[in-house]
Amino acid sequence: MDPLTETLTLKLVNPNTHKERKLRETRDEYQLALHDAFTQDCDTQSKANDVVVNYDLSGYAKNALKQYVPNLLDDDTYGAEELQEGNHPVRFTNEGPQLDHKPQNAIEWYVKIPHHEDYHLWLPAQPKSNQREWLEALYHSDAEMGECQLIERDGEWYFHVSATMIVEQSSSVSVEEQTPIGVDLGEAALATVCHRTECGSPANPTLWSREGREVRRLRETYFSAVKRLQERDSERLAEEYGDELWARIDDILHAVSKEIVEYAQQVENPVLIIEDLTHIRENMDYGQFMNRRLHGWAFAKLHAQITYKAKENGIPVETVDPAYTSKECHSCGEHGYRSRQAVFKCSNTECWVGEYQADLNAALNLVKRYYASCESHVQTDSEFSSDEKGVAVT
Ligand SMILES: [Zn+2]
Repeated sequence: MDPLTETLTLKLVNPNTHKERKLRETRDEYQLALHDAFTQDCDTQSKANDVVVNYDLSGYAKNALKQYVPNLLDDDTYGAEELQEGNHPVRFTNEGPQLDHKPQNAIEWYVKIPHHEDYHLWLPAQPKSNQREWLEALYHSDAEMGECQLIERDGEWYFHVSATMIVEQSSSVSVEEQTPIGVDLGEAALATVCHRTECGSPANPTLWSREGREVRRLRETYFSAVKRLQERDSERLAEEYGDELWARIDDILHAVSKEIVEYAQQVENPVLIIEDLTHIRENMDYGQFMNRRLHGWAFAKLHAQITYKAKENGIPVETVDPAYTSKECHSCGEHGYRSRQAVFKCSNTECWVGEYQADLNAALNLVKRYYASCESHVQTDSEFSSDEKGVAVT
């Protein structure tokens, strides 16, 4: 069990004039308090407390200052001039800031930033795309929030959150010893998971179809209700509606990601093979724009949840290019087609596959692709070493 720590960067999205003024007030007041405590040589928490208590800051910023200033004074290289020049981040202890998630909104994430005592601001915040799994882990209390910082850079505001997750060491074994598990994420079944036995036949195929139906039903409920509210000109109600529905969808996704990791724990040396999110899926039947974005949301969310839950449990996750995984036959590699939503038909008349469960075929293709990518690595390595030998001979 090792702690893994990461600093998450959230960009505060277009704070309005009022909120931006509040952020600036907090920042300016904090700089004054910091400078004051530093020049008064507050080398203990209680000395720092006597100084910062007079400033109009939240208790979380004051507490962070009490810890920070004595440390700063300990550092001989630091002078008062540098302190004055630097645009210091406003630090907050972790009890103050909070994270919220509203996937139905264009900007999904919100952070609560303490301002004064008993007064805080909620602001929409855009995370880095590769830190989604950390946000999910924080949101589900599987990671712990540490100190946070408010920073202004080139006229933009950022909120940095330090996060820690306890993870299990993953054992490194050779590809031959691994059991790759294909995890296909989809619309009909939220996830389809399968691995292969030693002789190569598909083992323990598991589909989360009921959950897929439930997510679709909740999403439809949301859309028709919002539409009704908008028709009645209740824009405000429409905007506020849906938190509970989206929390239920989140619960379902979270339960599915947990079950996928439990599946992996039952096999020897598991590796989860999941599609690379940077590729656009070619096989999705998208509806209207909102639906597409929200589908993408559920997809990205489930992907992130599986990734962090696997990491937490020491299970490696590998990504592969998913292009055509739903159109190729997992056995012969020929292109086929979906005769019905759930059925893949191989167009190779010689192939034994004929008709196959479509999502299962895609999951098996992910495994196949993983092996192919490992082989190409091995090949590159041996080419490289033979080159080296050539150099040594001449
Ligand atoms: Zn085939």
